[in-house]
Amino acid sequence: MEAIWTLGSKDAAQYSPLRQDTEADVVVIGAGITGLMTALRLAEAGQRVIVLEALTVGAGGTGGATGNLYSTLASGHAPLQRKWGEEVAGDVAKARSEAIDHIEALIGRFAIDCDFHRQPAYRVMADNDDKTSLDLNDEYDALVGAGLDVRIADDPGLPFETQGLKIHGQAQFNPLQFTQGLGRAACERGVVIHEHSPVREVNAKESVVLTDTARVSAPHIVHATHTPKGINLLQGGMLVFREYAVSARLKSGRYPEGIIWVLDPFHSLRSYRHAGERHLMVIGEKHKTGEHRGDYYQLLRDYLNAHFDVEAFTFQWSAQQYSSPDGLPYIGRMHGHDNLYMATGFAADGLVWGTLAGMLIADQIMGRANPWQARFDSRRLTLGKSAAQYAKENATVTKHMVKDYLGTEKLKEFDEVRAGQARVASVDGEKLAIHRTAAGELKVLSAVCPHMKCIVHWNAAESTWDCPCHGSRFDHGGGVIEGPAYQPLERRDRPD
Ligand SMILES: Cc1cc2nc3c(=O)[nH]c(=O)nc-3n(C[C@H](O)[C@H](O)[C@H](O)COP(=O)(O)OP(=O)(O)OC[C@H]3O[C@@H](n4cnc5c(N)ncnc54)[C@H](O)[C@@H]3O)c2cc1C
Repeated sequence: MEAIWTLGSKDAAQYSPLRQDTEADVVVIGAGITGLMTALRLAEAGQRVIVLEALTVGAGGTGGATGNLYSTLASGHAPLQRKWGEEVAGDVAKARSEAIDHIEALIGRFAIDCDFHRQPAYRVMADNDDKTSLDLNDEYDALVGAGLDVRIADDPGLPFETQGLKIHGQAQFNPLQFTQGLGRAACERGVVIHEHSPVREVNAKESVVLTDTARVSAPHIVHATHTPKGINLLQGGMLVFREYAVSARLKSGRYPEGIIWVLDPFHSLRSYRHAGERHLMVIGEKHKTGEHRGDYYQLLRDYLNAHFDVEAFTFQWSAQQYSSPDGLPYIGRMHGHDNLYMATGFAADGLVWGTLAGMLIADQIMGRANPWQARFDSRRLTLGKSAAQYAKENATVTKHMVKDYLGTEKLKEFDEVRAGQARVASVDGEKLAIHRTAAGELKVLSAVCPHMKCIVHWNAAESTWDCPCHGSRFDHGGGVIEGPAYQPLERRDRPD
């Protein structure tokens, strides 16, 4: 489903797929904000860069983001400070503020039209009890300690009473338009982008990446794919979530302004204007990927209807996030391979982390010192801060493996799956992912995720097969949409 940002991006440049073998100094896999930030910085330093994108520029997590740019984290600065202490919490705010300034500077330098504007961020609660006040007091102290300009919130224009905090000097933009502009700027500096060119294999030893049609040899290979492709040590502790967004036009014309996080329960709100028309969007209903259990879009529509005078709903979409076990992103060289680089663990804050990652990875490749490299290093070991999430995630993966392999129902005939339905079932001893489209066409795939052999689950909101273990997602024809899997779900013969 299309995000609202496509409104401002209809005239996007198109880049041809990779058709023949070639060489570069650096090959970047993925044309989201991370990949293109990396590519542009490298090209400006004189490197020959090729970017391979499975879909189109910005079509991954970046094009599904809310477009908020903030120095703190959506999950709050107080939990970060509790886990890491004041110095790290301060570094996070400083590094992220620098990344936002970098985005603003690039927009100015390359005249990127993406509706960038400075806005405050609000962290508010509707409940007025002692616990609320204590939480907000902690958050206030952490934000002030991190050097941010924070006050007691005035009214962000919500139609209900709240109390909370206001952080000055944050920003908003259209993330898809920005990334497309970044792509154009990178190409002007000599970067070559190939869309519709999914990488199917990375051979670290030979330093080569392969698509279905050709290969690129390069001494440096960057996985700017939101989570690294293939099997990676860090995936074992990563939490993978999906989150949903709905936008609407309001009858009153009174739209709240700024980055607004309502905490009880968590909903992120912002407004967006395009071609004279305004929209309010709400983001929320986060759940673990592969554990889809309800109509999340309807819940968000209910939330908007309960609090605002909705005239019409305009867009709905969803996106994925990867949370690292110690709460900070992993950026830089991968374990065991000095020629491979990665950037992941951005949680819901990756437009800014992705920008920082692009700067850090490019500097690392160029051999330039960067003060933030060690802080976010992908090779760091933080057992004390990560152990709990590692243990929990590995238990979850084991639970899915056992339950999904043992508990699959048996199917006698494919007719048992009716139009619009999908099921994972055992047929002749094999686990199959079976879907019949609304038009009655039967699609039969192996239900075994090619990444690490977990069983995929149906996601009815998106009509996709999602893997609950590490977040690989596949369309109803089996094609890879996102996540660590390189290969599609295998197709199986079907009786009709
Ligand atoms: C609902 C939601 C809202 C969010 N809102 C915000 C926000 O307001 N502010 C914020 O800072 N963060 C936000 N985030 C987080 C943010 O969207 C992401 O962290 C960020 O966009 C990640 O950027 P990226 O470039 O690393 O990954 P992506 O944008 O996902 O780019 C990776 C690219 O790699 C490509 N790719 C994958 N596999 C291959 C392959 N095999 N071959 C070639 N290409 C491949 C993909 O197609 C994709 O285009 C939000 C997240 C969610 C879930």
